[in-house]
Amino acid sequence: MNWDALVVGGGPAGSSSAYHLSRLGFRVLLLEKKPLPRFKLCAGCLSARTLRLLPSGYEDLLLNRIRVGRLAFRGEEHRLEAKEEIAYIVDRKDFDHFLVLKALESGAELLRGEFLAFQKEGARYRVYTTHGSFLVDYLVGADGMRSRVARLLGYKKKKLFKSLEFFTEGDLRYEVLIELGLIRNGYLWLFPHGDGVSMGLASTHREDLFKILFEYSKAKGIRFKHPLGWHIPYAEGEKDIHIGKERVLLVGDAANMTDPLLGEGIYYALWAGSLLASSIEKEPSNPTVGYKKLLKPLAEELHYAGKIARLAYSFQGIAYNMGKSFALKSFYELLLGRKSYKELYKGGLFSFLKDLLLEKLPFTRL
Ligand SMILES: Cc1cc2nc3c(=O)[nH]c(=O)nc-3n(C[C@H](O)[C@H](O)[C@H](O)COP(=O)(O)OP(=O)(O)OC[C@H]3O[C@@H](n4cnc5c(N)ncnc54)[C@H](O)[C@@H]3O)c2cc1C
Repeated sequence: MNWDALVVGGGPAGSSSAYHLSRLGFRVLLLEKKPLPRFKLCAGCLSARTLRLLPSGYEDLLLNRIRVGRLAFRGEEHRLEAKEEIAYIVDRKDFDHFLVLKALESGAELLRGEFLAFQKEGARYRVYTTHGSFLVDYLVGADGMRSRVARLLGYKKKKLFKSLEFFTEGDLRYEVLIELGLIRNGYLWLFPHGDGVSMGLASTHREDLFKILFEYSKAKGIRFKHPLGWHIPYAEGEKDIHIGKERVLLVGDAANMTDPLLGEGIYYALWAGSLLASSIEKEPSNPTVGYKKLLKPLAEELHYAGKIARLAYSFQGIAYNMGKSFALKSFYELLLGRKSYKELYKGGLFSFLKDLLLEKLPFTRL
C-alpha cells in the first residue's frame, strides 16, 4: 500500500490529524505503540467548547456533566453554579479509543508498532518502525510529551508542568474543585470521575508535590492512593510551539500545545489536528508555512492564557478574590467557547492591577 501520510501516536492529536486527513482524501497510516484501548494519565476534563470538535457519537463517553465550579483558597471557598454544562469528564482509555475508531471509519489504517526514525529518500520520507519501514509524503509527530519525532527534529522541551494524579472513591458528580494557595505556579484539582474522583496537582515549580497531595487528601478525609506522575508541556505563544519542519509536522503535546493556566491539552490537540490536515491540503509542498498561519489563533489563546497564568499564580490570593467577584463567571464563558483568553485577560487586567495596588498599599483601603 502506498501511504500519503504516517501519523505517529493514537492520542487525540494523532486521531484528529488522521481523521481529518482521511476525510480530505489522503491515505493515512496511524501508528500506535501501545495495544488499544490504552491507559493515559489525565483528569479527562473537556471544556464544553471541545464537543464541537468531536466526531458524532461521543455522548455515551461523557461520564460526568459539570455545572458547578468551586474555587478554594486557604480555607475559603467560592461555589458558582452555571446555568448550563460547562465541562465534561471522560475516561481517556475509552475516549481515545473512540477517536481512533473514528479515524479508521474515515479511512485511516491502524498499525500497532513503534516509530523509530525517519530519513529523506528522494522527495519523500522513509519512516522506520518496529513493524517495517514506509515511504510517505508527510510524517506527523503526534507522539506526546516524549515525542521522538520532535527530538529527531532537534526540539527540546523547556516549559513543563510536573503533575501527579490518582483516582479514588468520592462523590462530586457535577462539581469540580480548584484549590489555589497550596503550591507556587500551579493548582490542585479534585474532579469527578464517573462514580469516583480524580485528584491531582500540577506545578511548574520544583516542589514536593507528593507531600502536598498526601497532606491535602489526609486533611480532607479523601482516601489517598499512590499517585502517578507525568509532565505536561505547555506553550505561552507561537514561539513555544514546535510546529515541525518541511513536511514533518508536530501536533498536540509533541508540539507543546497545552495551555499554561490549567494544562488543558485535549481541546488544542483536536483543534490543531484539523488545522494540520487543512495546511497539508492547501500547501502540499510546504505545509509548515500554512500550518503556522492557521495556528495563529490557537497560539494567541496560549499566549494570553500564559499572561493570565503568570499573574494568577504569582498573586493567588488576588486571583481567588477576582474569581469570587467576576472572573469565575467569565471563565465559564471561555469554557463554553463564547470568550477567548484574550478577552478574559483584557477584561480582568484593570481589576487585577487595582487589587494589586490595594494589596501593596493597604492604607489605600481606608
Ligand atoms: C495528570 C494529567 C492530567 C491532565 N488532565 C487534563 C484534562 O483534564 N483535560 C485536558 O484537556 N488535558 C489534560 N491533560 C493534558 C492531556 O492529557 C494531553 O495534553 C493530551 O493527552 C495530549 O494529547 P496527544 O495526542 O498530543 O498525546 P497523548 O495523549 O500522550 O498521545 C500520544 C500517543 O502516542 C503514542 N506514542 C508515543 N511514542 C510513540 C512511538 N514512538 N511510536 C508510536 N506511538 C507512540 C503513545 O502511546 C500515545 O498513545 C492532563 C495531563 C496530565 C499529565
